[in-house]
Parts: sequence; C-alpha cells; structure tokens
Amino acid sequence: MTVSPSPRIYLSPPELTGRELALLGEAVASGWIAPLGPQVDAFEAEVAHRLDMPHALALSSGTAALHLALLALGVGPGDTVWTSTLTFAATANAIAYVGATPVFVDSDPASWNLDPGLVADGLDRAARTGALPRALIGVDLYGQCADWEPIARACRRHGVAIIEDAAEALGASYRSRPAGSLGDLAVLSFNGNKIITTSGGGMLLGAARSAIDRARHLATQAREPVRHYEHRDIGYNYRLSNLLAAVGRAQLADLDRRIAARRAIRARYREALGDLPGWSFMPEAGYGRATFWLTTATIDPAVFGASRDEVIDRLAAENIEARPVWKPLHLQPVFAGAPVLRGEIAEGLFRDGICLPSGSGLTPPAQDRVIEIVRKRS
Ligand SMILES: *Cc1c(COP(=O)(O)O)cnc(C)c1O
Repeated sequence: MTVSPSPRIYLSPPELTGRELALLGEAVASGWIAPLGPQVDAFEAEVAHRLDMPHALALSSGTAALHLALLALGVGPGDTVWTSTLTFAATANAIAYVGATPVFVDSDPASWNLDPGLVADGLDRAARTGALPRALIGVDLYGQCADWEPIARACRRHGVAIIEDAAEALGASYRSRPAGSLGDLAVLSFNGNKIITTSGGGMLLGAARSAIDRARHLATQAREPVRHYEHRDIGYNYRLSNLLAAVGRAQLADLDRRIAARRAIRARYREALGDLPGWSFMPEAGYGRATFWLTTATIDPAVFGASRDEVIDRLAAENIEARPVWKPLHLQPVFAGAPVLRGEIAEGLFRDGICLPSGSGLTPPAQDRVIEIVRKRS
C-alpha cells in the first residue's frame, strides 16, 4: 500500500482570483500586446490611487524600479546610499548598478526595520565629516513599515533623498498613511511570491512628476520624442507588459482580502505557538498596521530545545517550505568590506529567525500541519 504524500506547502505561493483570464482576454482582444497600453495605464492609476501617490510607472520588476529610482535622483559613482542591512539583496544590488557605494544600517528590534536613532545619529555624524549619502533606501520588511517619521526628519535635515522599498509591504500602513507613500520615491514588487503578483513586475511611485517622467523615459530605451531614433542617455527596456498589467489589476482588486488573510494566518500562528518557550514573533510596531506578508519569528535554541535550522529541516521532511530570515547584506560575500553601522541586531535576527508558510491561500488544515510539526519538537 502506498501512502500518498501530503501536498507541498510553500512559503508564499502565487494565488489567483479567478478574474485574471477575463482581464487578460480583454487585453489580448484590444491588440495591445506591448509594454504599454490601456491595462498598463489603468494599473498605474489604480495603484497610485490606492497609495495616494500622484505618479506611478509600471515596470518589469521591483529591482528595475529601484534602479530607476536611483537614476532618477541622479545617484552615481562616488555617491553613497544608506540602506537596511536586513533585506533582500535586490535593494543593495541597485546601488551597485549605478556605481554608488552602499552603507548598511542595523535593525531596530521593535520593527526589524532601519533603527531610526542609528540613522539620525549616523547622518548627524556624517554631516560633520562631509560624508553624507545622496539617498537612503528604507525597507518595509515582511509587510511592516519602518518608523518613517524620525527617519524622514533626519534625512530632510541633511538633504538626503528618500526611497521607500515597499516591495514586501503593499497594503501596510504607517500612521494611517499607506506603505509606498512615505518617501520621495517608492518601489513595489509584483514577483510571484509577493502579496499580489503579475508573475514578474514592479512599480515606481513618486510625489514629483519630474522624477517619474525621467524614469519613464529611461525605462523606454531613453528614446527622445522626435521622429528618428535619438538618444541622449543610456536607456533600459524595463516597462511592464500590457498583458501582465491585466493580471495585476485582477490581483489588486483582491488586495484587502489578502491582507486580512495574511494577518489571520499570523494571528493563528501566535495563538498556537505563542506559548512555546524561546519563540518570539516579529513585533507589530504601534505606529502602523502590518500586512505580515510573511509570518516571522525568532527561536532561541537554548530555551526551545531546537535551533531554527532544525525546525526548518523538520518541516522540510514533511514537505513544508520554511526559510531563514534574510541574511544581512554586510555578511554577504558580494558586499564584503562595505561600511556598516552596528549590525548585531540583524545578525541575531538572521541567526535565529524563521519565515513560516504565509500564503494568502493557506488553509487552516494546512496551517495546522505546520503548527503540529513545530509543536512536536517542544
Ligand atoms: C522582492 C523584493 C525586491 C525585488 O523585487 P523584484 O520584483 O523581485 O525584482 C526588492 N526589495 C525587496 C525588499 C524585496 O523583497
């Protein structure tokens, strides 16, 4: 007799709404099989409206949006850009694309995001030594906003431009303002694992029309608006397909349900695992409302009796995907030698941190499988 294996539980798989095909059909019927068209225009307008940002540019990825954000701000060789050390590599790769140098900043244990005091003191110090960065890329990690007010105040004081990497935080809020509206420019991702997806895609949002116009120009091969092919800048082919924008619109219409689903999943994990010794879930800071794109926690191995890696291995043996928290970028070989402001908080979060299956389509019985395996170990 063969026992059929339990279906695999993924960390954050794409979820369809059932409306994607209808909108894709509309896009195909319209004949706009191109990296521009009515679905792109509508998707940009809908996201801009939702985020209360006046200007939006749909792009082929969040990484492309980060790259263009830095280019639109004129960041280049010789400049430094401060960013969170606890983030996905794409955040800092964009800094390298433009030839600038990243400076990595440690996390605040209250939110796992940029430590606002460290940013403010660091910028004051950098101002005295003439070492101010051109820009700061703050990340809204795992669906929770950074503490933007003190960070923005410090940046304004020193004339440092602010890019909000909200790739993981569409739908979150900070003091009643939406994630993606908290910087001069903001970046979203619609990669397959994010809260809404176009399979691959991203968006750049801006308060100023000039920066988004500049980014749109660079994203469209930097073609000058004349009859022949005229180029004054190095351009990129970064725009989002009209077909994928149709998928994005179907997904966006489902965003509120998805936020509720991800928050409910995190609440259920807390209910079921919150009593385990040595477990601490990423706190929800009082200044905002997180989506909990991923439910994350740290496990103290001495207290729990098993390490983070042992828990991941145990889940993997049952066909369940869990992952470590991001490895801090100042520990990555590719960024070896980059300056870092402190770093121990992020190092600890990486050493002990786990991301649990959190997809908006995760059913209670599937989540119970995860919970049961984690609890068995205690
Ligand atoms: C996913 C992600 C990105 C990159 O987005 P892509 O659309 O995959 O290029 C950038 N920053 C953070 C924090 C992310 O999680």
